[in-house]
Amino acid sequence: MIPAQFDYVRPATLDEAIQALADGGEDAKVIAGGQSLMPLLRLRLAYPELLVDVGHLAELRGVTDTGGALLIGARTTHYDLLHDPLIAEHCGILAQTAATVADPAVRHRGTLGGSLAHGDPAGDLPAVVLALDATLIARGPGGERQIGAGDFFLDYLTTALDAGEVLTGISVPKLGPGWGYRYEKFHRTAQAWATVGVAALARRSDGVLAEARIGLTNMGTVPVRASAAEAAAAGVEASRAALDGAAAYAAEGTQPPADLHGAPDYRRHLARVLTGRALAAAAGV
Ligand SMILES: Cc1cc2nc3c(=O)[nH]c(=O)nc-3n(C[C@H](O)[C@H](O)[C@H](O)COP(=O)(O)OP(=O)(O)OC[C@H]3O[C@@H](n4cnc5c(N)ncnc54)[C@H](O)[C@@H]3O)c2cc1C
Repeated sequence: MIPAQFDYVRPATLDEAIQALADGGEDAKVIAGGQSLMPLLRLRLAYPELLVDVGHLAELRGVTDTGGALLIGARTTHYDLLHDPLIAEHCGILAQTAATVADPAVRHRGTLGGSLAHGDPAGDLPAVVLALDATLIARGPGGERQIGAGDFFLDYLTTALDAGEVLTGISVPKLGPGWGYRYEKFHRTAQAWATVGVAALARRSDGVLAEARIGLTNMGTVPVRASAAEAAAAGVEASRAALDGAAAYAAEGTQPPADLHGAPDYRRHLARVLTGRALAAAAGV
């Protein structure tokens, strides 16, 4: 279908983009890679009157070492995540996950910021930034604010970003020594979208799993932490049997959707199985 008519601006700077959004009010929307927004426009599920294109702003792209964390520009593409040496060294799960998103064409245009701002619970990267305890940085007419990943995803396709705000960057604490990671994803052969995905981070110390952080994809209207499984995994022996025992709690408190790809019970089963696999891989057992 052809999208409804809209105006389009391509500001030269972030400040100009924020001004354009303010001028456009509630009917203005940011576009970056367009990989999620364009399908919505074509299906006429969204019909903004103004698109503010930030997809070329160099100031929003790239990865910077800030000491204990990496600052990733919101316009950094999935392809960039896959090939950036700082990401590989300090937060490799972002690269591992980006490799599972769609296909090369989508990965070249789609951005990390767009994936997060879109707020799709089936998106892969939201659960990962949740497990990484990342902080999202937004800028609007009132200045800059920081939003913890746990407070960012509010509901289906709904985030804590205000209408006039641009997501500028994502600050991701570096994974220190002893941490391992794995993103496990179950999807139909024909498409890459996750039926369920599990992002597991595990810190191993002296044969014991000292700490685990687990984010779940598509197990509710927002990405969620598998808190019960995290608690069960902390302090257990780093063995497959013990980690599978902790993974049995992975679906606790979740409200997975029912759709063509799976019933809620099927997704709960997937969450448990994938969590066991992801924890084991993250812990290196
Ligand atoms: C064929 C296909 C397959 C796909 N498969 C997968 C998959 O397997 N896994 C997966 O996770 N995703 C998948 N996707 C979705 C896609 O990869 C991401 O959602 C996409 O990369 C979003 O980034 P974008 O820059 O294209 O965002 P856009 O489409 O430009 O924008 C998406 C939303 O985010 C907002 N937005 C974007 N950037 C900003 C910003 N800086 N500040 C504020 N708001 C912003 C927009 O207003 C819009 O609401 C697929 C997409 C396609 C077309």
